Amino acid sequence: MILFFGTRPGKTRTVALSGVSCPHCGSRGQLTASSTANFIHIFWIPVYRLGTNLLAECGHCKRGFFKEDFTTEMKQALKDRLG
Ligand SMILES: [Zn+2]
Repeated sequence: MILFFGTRPGKTRTVALSGVSCPHCGSRGQLTASSTANFIHIFWIPVYRLGTNLLAECGHCKRGFFKEDFTTEMKQALKDRLG
């Protein structure tokens, strides 16, 4: 028997961080954050949630930011929108 086992990303939620300025170019309202939950799958059934990947991108300078690079302003805006 072959056991199909792996990890897959779940749904991605995208939120616009309006009113937040980009830490790189300083443009306001250009940041979009996306959160993707990763699941462990057995036979394509998600059985365990591993964690959530958080990424942000600036629509102006196209720079991407990892969760570690988020500014306090970005974190606060995300908290308000993602809960
Ligand atoms: Zn930017």
